[in-house]
Amino acid sequence: MSDTASVKLEAGWAVIRLPEADRDQLLADLAECPCRAPKSAATAEERAWLCEQLAELPVRVPLHRIHGLRVALNSCPCTGPTAAGDTIRERLNRALGRLK
Ligand SMILES: [Zn+2]
Repeated sequence: MSDTASVKLEAGWAVIRLPEADRDQLLADLAECPCRAPKSAATAEERAWLCEQLAELPVRVPLHRIHGLRVALNSCPCTGPTAAGDTIRERLNRALGRLK
């Protein structure tokens, strides 16, 4: 996530701004993990929703969706806890967590 990326509260929405390169990386990161770990249909839906929204930047997220989105942004259980936390996906997750 580059310096020009941001997540801000604006008029009751969480507004996500991303350079196009970051958006493309995030879309790749949001693809379903091919492993056989159990996956939640709800988080898959939430990820699909975000992918749709990313077609047009900036993305406006209703505040009631933030929790579900953060759950959906967590990596697949097969990868275990990520210490580095440096992917766009993880940075976006943390940025959303700092909003409240
Ligand atoms: Zn997996």
